[in-house]
Amino acid sequence: MSSSASSLHDKLNQLRQRFIDQLPARLQLTVGLWQQSQASAEAQARLGPELHRFFHSLKGTGRSLGFERIALLAEQGEAALDGQAPAGQVVEQVFVHLAEEQQRLQSLPEQQRALAAMTSVEFSPKPVQTRSKRQRLIYLCDDEPDQVSQLLHHLRCFGHEVVHFEDTDTFFNAVITRRPDAIIMDVQFPQGNTAGTETLASLNKLTGEPLPSIVLSAHGDFHSRLSAVRAGCNGYFTKPVKPLDLMLAVDELTTPSDEEPLRILIVDDEPEVAAYHALLLEQAGMAVQQVNHPADALTALERFSPDLLLVDVYMPVCSGEELANIIRQQPEHVGLPIIYLSSETDSQKQLSAMTAGVEAFITKPVIPDELVSAVTLRAERLRLLRSLMTRDSMTGLYNHSTTTELISKALAQAHRDNTEHAMAMIDIDHFKAVNDTHGHLAGDQVIITLARLLKTRLRMSDIIGRYGGEEFVVLLKGVSDERACELIDALRHDFAQVDFHAGGTRFRCTFSAGISRFPNHPSTESLRLSADQALYRAKHQGRNQVVTSTEQDDDGLPTDCP
Ligand code: GH3
Ligand code: MG
Ligand code: MG
Repeated sequence: MSSSASSLHDKLNQLRQRFIDQLPARLQLTVGLWQQSQASAEAQARLGPELHRFFHSLKGTGRSLGFERIALLAEQGEAALDGQAPAGQVVEQVFVHLAEEQQRLQSLPEQQRALAAMTSVEFSPKPVQTRSKRQRLIYLCDDEPDQVSQLLHHLRCFGHEVVHFEDTDTFFNAVITRRPDAIIMDVQFPQGNTAGTETLASLNKLTGEPLPSIVLSAHGDFHSRLSAVRAGCNGYFTKPVKPLDLMLAVDELTTPSDEEPLRILIVDDEPEVAAYHALLLEQAGMAVQQVNHPADALTALERFSPDLLLVDVYMPVCSGEELANIIRQQPEHVGLPIIYLSSETDSQKQLSAMTAGVEAFITKPVIPDELVSAVTLRAERLRLLRSLMTRDSMTGLYNHSTTTELISKALAQAHRDNTEHAMAMIDIDHFKAVNDTHGHLAGDQVIITLARLLKTRLRMSDIIGRYGGEEFVVLLKGVSDERACELIDALRHDFAQVDFHAGGTRFRCTFSAGISRFPNHPSTESLRLSADQALYRAKHQGRNQVVTSTEQDDDGLPTDCP
């Protein structure tokens, strides 16, 4: 079993163990309630709903965790209370059988208790993508020194780890030992004109899973291209290769469409069931938060801002349906996908849930793969819609208004946590001249490249936005202004080394940056103003530099970055 599968297995067993441990106390409490309810019609009316809830949730949790016999007994109890059978005797019999089953489970040796659950709820998780890193491991297999040094330089500028090989044998062994994220392969080697493609083809056959690969070749003819496609390569560049174009192709090939895990909020009054569903979704790479009281859902929505809500239909205080209505009445949550979870198979109820704007209905116990795919499909659709509204279409970075909003939120959190942040305003130097000299398309290429550089080199948690035309703003979280200055200065240095091509000419660009510090400047606006002043200073002092606005200079005299 893979390590992720075994950890799911362990966690699932812990949940089952907890369920068995808590069962005697739950049962005892409910038998007490039942006895009280038998005293009078008034008591029966008063305690009925609570008894009903006991059976209903026991049914749901039992089934979710694989204790089918308990679920069946609970179902009988629930039906009896619903008046589908003469209640009294049935309920008492159910209690007796439940007590017997509980004793049987507890008498099992500890290791076997959790295993007593049916195995039908097991599920084989797909390997979780390591999404936290944007840096890639790239193998470059090429024996032309000039080309190699140029390519290495550009790939490393963008923060990728690059390993270079001069011959196909060493390269072949390296791929087997440590699989890279992408391969760049010159196909002509002294061993023959097709040595590279042959190596690629046999590697893909051997590993079974094609490696993202780009071929470099002196020939652009149909047959050379065809043999590369047949070898399973994803990109083809003829020499001389423009390093930047190659870089962007590598980025495209290795960047998942959205790097942030999907965020799912679960509202379920049954902690074990919620924990079980959370486990399944986390195993599929999602970030999950649980809420056990519907009343806490609104705060959780605000704080966690999920991509999807998974709601139990049957809860005390308010039903899932009512909760969906409350949420839908708030304009900011109108588009939030909601999936209902319930052991309710009554199609009339499902229909009325749909009219409350609920997207789908999943019946408990869930089939793990179905839950994961239903959630993924709907959450990703919302992601896409949201990204159209919050991101700049050219660079994929946050747009102006979203950047401001996210920074304000981050600062509010930083006030609570007492952390420091740094803001950098970055502006490309003499950009108008780039457009005038090399054309607007070349200018766009520069903007896109700087955006990629910021994305690959800064951390996932940093906020990176395109503030306007050739102006970017970055919130570097949890770093001092000195550290931010070092980071941005290293980016400035590497960006200045990137070669751009337009028509037949090659050109380079630089940027200037100004840095300010939170909490010295406690609001988004004052932080931005101060970074802007520092940027102005950087421009004024000759551009291609980073300037920090430090505490003592806040009366107008920023200092240069060392
Ligand atoms: P400085 O060094 O002082 O920043 O000078 P600059 O020329 O970079 O600054 P200025 O603000 O004078 O010019 C910015 C130019 O950026 C003007 C505008 O046409 C261009 N621009 C804005 N958005 C885009 C875009 O999306 N693509 C391209 N190609 N150009 C853009
Ligand atoms: Mg500019
Ligand atoms: Mg400008």
